[in-house]
Amino acid sequence: METTRHQLTPCPVCGYNIDAATRLGKRQDGKPYVPEDGSISLCAKCGTILRYLTNGQGFYLVECPQRILDEMRDNDRENFLLLKRAQTFVLYEISKKN
Ligand SMILES: [Zn+2]
Repeated sequence: METTRHQLTPCPVCGYNIDAATRLGKRQDGKPYVPEDGSISLCAKCGTILRYLTNGQGFYLVECPQRILDEMRDNDRENFLLLKRAQTFVLYEISKKN
């Protein structure tokens, strides 16, 4: 796993200011990881699955549409299962605090 710091970007669900992204797995080409337009992410504070989108100023986060998750489930099952496992872990950590 590889973590990259980036511009402060609020989670659209809980407002937590996300300042880094951790890539699950390694890039095939060995280059440092930077979130790209369409990259899927997870808010470590509330467990919402998010999607990076870009505009002229950089990128922002939206809730990942179900359609994208369905495509990922069908076409990229390994990473889909990693994502769901990471989400389960975050939601479990949140449940322990409440
Ligand atoms: Zn959040």
